[in-house]
Amino acid sequence: MGSNDSDWCNYKQLVLSLHNDEECVRFLQEKGILHTNRVCKGGRDMKLRFRKNGNIYWICQFVECIQYVGVRKDTWIYPSRLPLIDIILFIYGWCYEWTSIKWCERELNISRKAVVDWNNYLREVCSLKLLHSSKKIGGDNTTVEIYESLFNPRKYNLGKTQSQQWVIGGICRETKEVFLHLIPDRKKETVLPIVEECVLPGTKIYTDEHKAYEEIYKLGYDHHTVNHSQNFVDPTIGAHTQIERWWRSSKERTKGQCRTRRDMLDSYMTEYLWRQSLHGKEPFAEILKDIATFYPPK
Ligand SMILES: [Zn+2]
Repeated sequence: MGSNDSDWCNYKQLVLSLHNDEECVRFLQEKGILHTNRVCKGGRDMKLRFRKNGNIYWICQFVECIQYVGVRKDTWIYPSRLPLIDIILFIYGWCYEWTSIKWCERELNISRKAVVDWNNYLREVCSLKLLHSSKKIGGDNTTVEIYESLFNPRKYNLGKTQSQQWVIGGICRETKEVFLHLIPDRKKETVLPIVEECVLPGTKIYTDEHKAYEEIYKLGYDHHTVNHSQNFVDPTIGAHTQIERWWRSSKERTKGQCRTRRDMLDSYMTEYLWRQSLHGKEPFAEILKDIATFYPPK
């Protein structure tokens, strides 16, 4: 689809390539999000069928078998009933931060509840990507901002019983490299070894005023604090932090989602870190790859 990267396409090209359900299914198959083939319990290849009413399913045509299964079953998009075209365009819109409730209602006819859900699904992909790509960041003459956040895994291959989970994440201002770790609690004994593991000595570190960080200077870091609950402006130097800049840009898009500032920071942090870690790569191609990696069809 144009450009050097075969995965690259703009919004117009995307819309023009998706006339009907067949094309949407093919698109999601090519991206590794839907099955490209399924086998019935009798071991026979199933065929994909498209109904006029919008139902799409795999069927075994063997007379004595006649098993069928919905195209979405055991995939990332299950059990959503959103039309496939809406899902694809939503993902595209999300990449460019268009997916405010207003935009989704007007352009895609997606309900408010579905917008919140789908924003969460994509944020979850971001979290998984970051949790699997943690490496040491920072070093001399660099600044790393550290945040804690709640992570709510909900989708199928994480298991339904898992409850809320704290994560600790950091971003290097200069290189935009990030790390993210799951933590059982926010105690000093838990968070300090992770910082030591993920951030190079000599780094200037910004954290919130959480007590656990009080002795972080002993590990060889230049420690500063920011009061996130009141503002995101560094009181010591008056400079805006990364998260403040991001907060301002996303305020408009999240209007009407009825959440407090602190909640927003919690649920949006990993999305923000994921975006920062792209280093100019095409977000649409990257998020599709990440979905296929972490939620392959089962
Ligand atoms: Zn069969």
